[in-house]
Amino acid sequence: MSNSHYLKRLLASVFMLTATASCGMAAESSWRAGVARTKITPEGSYWMGGYASRKRPSEGTFQDLYAKAIAIDDAGGSRVVIVTTDLLVITRDLAEAVKRRVADQHNLPPSRLLLNCSHTHCGPEIRLYRESLHNIPADLAGKMHKYARQLEDRLVRVVGAAIANQTPAHLSYAESQVAFAVNRRNNRAADVPRLRKEDKLIGPVDHSVPVLKVTDTEGRMMAILFGYACHNTIMSFYQTSGDYAGFAQQYIEEKHPEAVAMFVMGAGGDQNPEPRRKVEYLHQYGQALADAVDKALTAPGREVSGSVRAALADAPLEFQPHADAETLQEQTKSTNQYERWKANFILSELEAGRSIPRQYGLPIQVIAFGDDLMMVAIGGECVVDYALQTKRRYRHADGPAIWVAGYSNDVFGYLPTLRVLKEGGYEGGGHMVYTKFPGPFTETVEKRVFQTIEQLVKEVK
Ligand SMILES: [Zn+2]
Repeated sequence: MSNSHYLKRLLASVFMLTATASCGMAAESSWRAGVARTKITPEGSYWMGGYASRKRPSEGTFQDLYAKAIAIDDAGGSRVVIVTTDLLVITRDLAEAVKRRVADQHNLPPSRLLLNCSHTHCGPEIRLYRESLHNIPADLAGKMHKYARQLEDRLVRVVGAAIANQTPAHLSYAESQVAFAVNRRNNRAADVPRLRKEDKLIGPVDHSVPVLKVTDTEGRMMAILFGYACHNTIMSFYQTSGDYAGFAQQYIEEKHPEAVAMFVMGAGGDQNPEPRRKVEYLHQYGQALADAVDKALTAPGREVSGSVRAALADAPLEFQPHADAETLQEQTKSTNQYERWKANFILSELEAGRSIPRQYGLPIQVIAFGDDLMMVAIGGECVVDYALQTKRRYRHADGPAIWVAGYSNDVFGYLPTLRVLKEGGYEGGGHMVYTKFPGPFTETVEKRVFQTIEQLVKEVK
């Protein structure tokens, strides 16, 4: 046997050994994961968030709401915790309080804790400033304040429970699709059934369903994280419900009773489930999403390995200035109660000698799981363009899978891209009347978001 031939055979056998060893190591797993859940359905009747048109408190529970946490450690002991919630929003105050307490108790930096909400419109209002906006009766406002405090405690506890539950685990990633999300800016709701039939729905959408499967060393399912970019607005009734995401989680857990199913809301700021407003759609879309998740679970997923890295920063966004005093005085006589509220708020701040801030730090977080998966979690109700563009920029043939979450760490209101801002309408700036911000964002909004994403992606590389 010639030397070179011998060397080739030796190398081949070394390669086979390495391959076997790495398979063996994979079976032993390099991750530790722990999951926990807690029910967060408010007790009794409460003020619901989500539709400004709501004029009375809730009337019973159609489906319970949950907060769920997964704590994932890599082989070196680096940790991230992802919390998903059946809630309309995560307020900045809530996120900061939870992150502070988790940092104190578990030594986990804020960049390593991700708080996401499903944006269900059939759950509690927790934005305390909405008390005056919606004229919430005093007893129900008191309940809202109390609930917000309890929620903070529960989120801190569920994180602790997930950390305490950690055992060796495997992670794998796959993606599938489901098509009930419709761009609500480009298609009239009433036309959707016809447009869908004629294949004429227009406007950007992101129908992908990212799925992270977490199993134990025996291959038993521990957690199933999945995402979708679409408003949880099927129902506008007065009963508590997690909407389609609540039912998708329920159906996944019924099929995999040993697992915790966790819904991560995507960049669905301008996406609605259509048609809607019938209970049957809760089941139908919930099942369709659960089926899509199952398809991804049975696909030959991408093994996720390596170290977990995370970075968090505020994108320095800028608002247009508010109207002048004369216009604001006019607006205090408006027939629109929200315009009156907003004008009165700004005038009272000015009279008190305070200015209305023109800057806003929007939290953006990037979490890299080895070189296999990168999650980009953007604050606010970000429109779908953000997901599509982020994937276009960072998805490469040999690079990590890209998972874009919206509604993370601070859901202050809508986050338009430049296109949506210029087009105007509700998501472009119209919704600002319901917030304490001076005006729509300036035209730098999209550029500033992507500059921050770019900086964070470099940090985790
Ligand atoms: Zn919304």
